[in-house]
Amino acid sequence: MSQTAHRFDPSILREYDIRGVVGDTVHAADARAIGRTFGTLVRRQGGKRVALGYDGRLSSPELAAACVEGLTASGLDVVNIGMAATPMLYFAVYHFDTDGGIMITGSHNPPDYNGFKMMMGKKSFFGADIQTLGAMAGKGDWESGQGKVAKENVLADYAARLLKDVKPGKKLKVAWDTGNGAVGVSIRAVVDKLPGEHIVLNEKVDGTFPAHHPDPTVPANLAQLMAEVKKQGCDLGIAFDGDGDRIGAVDGKGRILWGDQLMVLWARDVLKSRPGATIIADVKASQVLFDEIARTGGKPMMFKTGHSLIKSKMAEIGAPLAGEMSGHIFFADTFYGFDDALYCGLRLLNILANAKESLADMRDGLPQLVNTPELRFDCPDKRKFVVAEEVKARLLKKGAKLSDIDGVRVSTKDGWWLLRASNTQPVLVARCEAADEAGLERLKAELKAELSASGVSLPDEASAGHH
Ligand SMILES: [Zn+2]
Repeated sequence: MSQTAHRFDPSILREYDIRGVVGDTVHAADARAIGRTFGTLVRRQGGKRVALGYDGRLSSPELAAACVEGLTASGLDVVNIGMAATPMLYFAVYHFDTDGGIMITGSHNPPDYNGFKMMMGKKSFFGADIQTLGAMAGKGDWESGQGKVAKENVLADYAARLLKDVKPGKKLKVAWDTGNGAVGVSIRAVVDKLPGEHIVLNEKVDGTFPAHHPDPTVPANLAQLMAEVKKQGCDLGIAFDGDGDRIGAVDGKGRILWGDQLMVLWARDVLKSRPGATIIADVKASQVLFDEIARTGGKPMMFKTGHSLIKSKMAEIGAPLAGEMSGHIFFADTFYGFDDALYCGLRLLNILANAKESLADMRDGLPQLVNTPELRFDCPDKRKFVVAEEVKARLLKKGAKLSDIDGVRVSTKDGWWLLRASNTQPVLVARCEAADEAGLERLKAELKAELSASGVSLPDEASAGHH
């Protein structure tokens, strides 16, 4: 008897994706129901065909097979591109002009996690869309049919598209760390065609991530790349998260450049061909970025954190570039506006291959403010948004200068501090930035005082890091 409805563990229906622990909160039956329900939604919008890909996790092939069953049972045809990084799946949606896409990926999470990122048409499928999908599955509100599956190899076309935007220039020596993640599928097809010398670390796709965790926002995960860059005398090193939609970089001296620092370089570059353009960065980004965009003739726009939110905003206003401190970067000047870290790496090489300065020089040339990393600390889901609202209300009463685009970003004579609730975890996120150490201490003290007025203590060693 065919299934008539499906109930998901509610914890897996998240803000930007569906994700959980395989064998615990995520099973093949969930993948089948996601396929069937997503397929139903696509069909009801007049769609006929979606693209599907999966990352290198051990559970991915099984989940992909079940998801394909669900999609075809809804009557949709599927273009299966096999193992891929998330941006290669996004590319396939454009290349084959499908009516949407599903990527099976656990992104940068530990090996036992897996999940689903979706595109409806060419747009992100997130927030209320994901809740709707859950509710429809619960009622068995499904279309039926018998779709067909076509296996397509999109790698050559994908690599050619990325390489199309490479500019000639001086030869660079680059170390790339794919972290045994899904970029391992595509890295050779791209770097073997580049000028210069390219060393690839942890290229073999391995869902157990034997070398290190595939998340370049955590400094420990960049240690191997830093060491290689120094040992080999590379101009720079580039790292990826597990599914290739976030980039990390280190300069020739082995120092990390965060997403907001790299954005300064890309913004200057994009503004040369798009003077006066609006460039979007999230509320966690350094003031240096916003100031530099303005100084070089662009319009800086501060926006909410969240890759789906930023992608949507950018499409809405036609911004040629957007980025998050987390390393999700979106080029829409000559690219599609989705977050492809390998493409971002090539755009960084374009800049360096045509500059007198090294990446280390450029890093040293940025205004040197002192800031904390992203500080993340536990706060129950029920409380996190309330705390941010309470802090905002008290600050407004005091006449503080603040932006409430996403939580509160408070400006003082020392600099700024941010407090926002994570959309994806029972966590509050904070960051402070000042001109000097003494100013930073004053900002941290203000943040601490505001938090404790709402009964939350900022741990002394709030963990820097990932989502
Ligand atoms: Zn990712």
